[in-house]
Amino acid sequence: MEYDYIIIGSGFGGSVSALRLSEKGYKVLVIEKGKWYHSDDFPRTNWNVSRWLWLPSLRWFGIMKITIFRHVGIVSGTGVGGGSLVYANTLPIPKQAFFQTGSWASLANWEQELAPYYQRAHQMLGASPNPRFFDGEKALEQLASDIGKAGEVHPTHVAIYFDKYGKTQPDPYFGGKGPERKGCIYCGACMTGCRYNAKNTLDKNYLYLAQQLGAEILAEKEVTDVRPVGAPDGSEGYEVTFRDATRFFKTSTTMRTRGVVFAGGVLGTVSLLLKLKQSSLPRLSNMVGKQVRTNNESLIAVTQLEGSADQSQGIAIGAILHTDEHSHLELCRYGSGSGAWRLSFLPFVEGSNLVVRLFKILADVVLHPRQYWKYFRVKDWAKNSQVMLFMQTLNSTITFRRTWWGSMRTAVVGDEKPTAFIPRAIELARKFEKIMHGKAFAFGLTPLMGIPGTAHILGGAVMGDSPETGVIDAQNRVYGYQNMLVCDGSMISANPGVNPALSITAISEKAMDSLPQHPDKS
Ligand SMILES: Cc1cc2nc3c(=O)[nH]c(=O)nc-3n(C[C@H](O)[C@H](O)[C@H](O)COP(=O)(O)OP(=O)(O)OC[C@H]3O[C@@H](n4cnc5c(N)ncnc54)[C@H](O)[C@@H]3O)c2cc1C
Ligand code: SF4
Repeated sequence: MEYDYIIIGSGFGGSVSALRLSEKGYKVLVIEKGKWYHSDDFPRTNWNVSRWLWLPSLRWFGIMKITIFRHVGIVSGTGVGGGSLVYANTLPIPKQAFFQTGSWASLANWEQELAPYYQRAHQMLGASPNPRFFDGEKALEQLASDIGKAGEVHPTHVAIYFDKYGKTQPDPYFGGKGPERKGCIYCGACMTGCRYNAKNTLDKNYLYLAQQLGAEILAEKEVTDVRPVGAPDGSEGYEVTFRDATRFFKTSTTMRTRGVVFAGGVLGTVSLLLKLKQSSLPRLSNMVGKQVRTNNESLIAVTQLEGSADQSQGIAIGAILHTDEHSHLELCRYGSGSGAWRLSFLPFVEGSNLVVRLFKILADVVLHPRQYWKYFRVKDWAKNSQVMLFMQTLNSTITFRRTWWGSMRTAVVGDEKPTAFIPRAIELARKFEKIMHGKAFAFGLTPLMGIPGTAHILGGAVMGDSPETGVIDAQNRVYGYQNMLVCDGSMISANPGVNPALSITAISEKAMDSLPQHPDKS
């Protein structure tokens, strides 16, 4: 065999797998579709779209991908480090409901079993509480007070190095084995990639340490096939085929491995599994693509039309407000100059169909021309805007299916689908408009087509007690195959109701703990 394990994708699940398998003595190869970005490579603002967005057809190989389906619009990360490059660093532990609902609920006492792994994940990702509140966080405190939740705004726990503002320090996290870090300067640009080496992306912890132990990382290669060699259950190993992801003329390569970890994120893993179920891996569960969820998010940007507060100062998400038992609200900011989202935004209006919503937009423009005039005169969108990220634990699922031309589409089966217009989120947005002296806007698909957006797509290869109820078991092993695991957002089997990267890290840590040492190294 060329490798003991090939890991497909280098996001949270893939990076944990790379380090822990290397520590257990396995020979590991990580294959990543996106580019290898270093601090200086990140765009200064998101107007540099070719470094911000992943759109290979236009030769844009940036760190964030936008994928639009009938029932949801998804933003996700691409590159060595996956979603950690573009994410807002926020690492909350979900509430009890997450551990006690969904297809995994009966498989373990998850809250208890995962507690030490959450702790380990926090430590590995360098999570610490945000030490400083700026104008955005203060506005959130005002909102909390207005809704009778004063004192309920808490600093987020984030994967950022805060000591020594702007100064380079030797590795503060791993006893000198990790890379140098620089103190955060609160520039707000975490979601276009940190150019200051202060954000603890996965290439600065898990992947860095895995490489020290011999793990290899191949960037700009996309896995297209995983095929058992010999025995149909993969017990004699697999052939993994991948092709160039960024070259114009693509060539393919095939390598042999004893085991495989699918870690391409929901969009990468579920689309690959749906394809392979029809070809090389027919024994996969019929549950592939089912029980896909979001956090039931609502993303509404409020732009201030008066006042001089600088909304871009701070970290991407500096505080979290527990609005009620089921819901959380965070404010997200971009760094000064990053205003590209604005091109795709429309006034946020709710309504039962397109005609009603179009009418409301038109009426709003006619009734409030001064507001729109002020909005168009806003020069630096990021300095004047906060994006409200509202999340709920309540359940709603969709299904991914493969189309006959090979892409994925969404379908609604049974359960309620995610909605673009959550009454509580709308109510909070309208209150926040008043606090900010601003106006609410949203990604055009929401007001136009009623499609909700999400940065937290989850599920599609969920846990179950058998192949009838899940794609994987409680140790993340794929039913029907040997030495094959899924470790990424697609394994998440209930709605965490909060940002999911910490949970993906913790559950992957647990899955890796359950694997034995390499026989020659034990
Ligand atoms: C703008 C934004 C902000 C966010 N903020 C937060 C936050 O503050 N907190 C939080 O918890 N979460 C946040 N998220 C969500 C978080 O980034 C994801 O939940 C998380 O990254 C998912 O981890 P994963 O292990 O599933 O894989 P990912 O991190 O999605 O990584 C998967 C990787 O696999 C690669 N890949 C896919 N298919 C293939 C293939 N066939 N071959 C090779 N490589 C492949 C992809 O290029 C990608 O790099 C945010 C997301 C976005 C987009
Ligand atoms: S606020 Fe700026 S310096 Fe701090 S982590 Fe984010 S991008 Fe890096």
